[in-house]
Amino acid sequence: MDTKDYLRILRNEIHSTVMATVDEDGHPVTRVIDIMLADDETFYFITAKGKEFYSQLTDQKYISLTGMSGGEGMDVREASIHKRAVSIRGKIESIGTEKLDEVFAENPYMAEIYPDPSTRNALEVFRMTEGTGEFFDLSTKPITRGSFTIGSEVQEKEHGGYFITDKCIGCQACYGACPQKCIDTSDVPLVIRQEHCLHCGNCFRACPVGAVVKR
Ligand code: SF4
Ligand code: SF4
Repeated sequence: MDTKDYLRILRNEIHSTVMATVDEDGHPVTRVIDIMLADDETFYFITAKGKEFYSQLTDQKYISLTGMSGGEGMDVREASIHKRAVSIRGKIESIGTEKLDEVFAENPYMAEIYPDPSTRNALEVFRMTEGTGEFFDLSTKPITRGSFTIGSEVQEKEHGGYFITDKCIGCQACYGACPQKCIDTSDVPLVIRQEHCLHCGNCFRACPVGAVVKR
């Protein structure tokens, strides 16, 4: 999957996200914000100009968000393993009322909140210009992890997480300790399959020779 696939999940499947900025005291503050539109490059959301959130967006020009889908209608114990989550952080900009008509066309419930078109001038559309994102799917076995970027200025980040170095002696203690069994044991040094790793750190702690490193 690439950026447009993750953005499609964010817009169509998740839709409502928790979005974070920083308040005037420097403390994190969150609220639920819907992802109104997404294309191959980025995503779009709106807010009203009278809100504190609007002031924080225009001052800070940076957000962090997380959204999750799946498990609707299931018992909470079952639902927790059917979740798909997207987290993104990065720079945003206002595009004014550009795309506002499209926002209302693609999200009919907005017309119930702002039934009189003349009142919609309270709203402004924002989009992300540069950012990095992570995808996490608990519904697969083993779990699936992915990363992506928004904006051509952002270089593909070196993957964070746990990696096995040439110090590995092939004892497989890490494999025994891995809850996802996502370590390929077919060769030495062993290889962590990053797309399925939980980043739990068990392999790091289990290795007797310090062959597992954390980036
Ligand atoms: S960090 Fe956890 S899930 Fe990832 S390879 Fe190590 S033990 Fe397995
Ligand atoms: S525990 Fe360490 S030495 Fe043993 S197989 Fe895993 S990485 Fe290699």
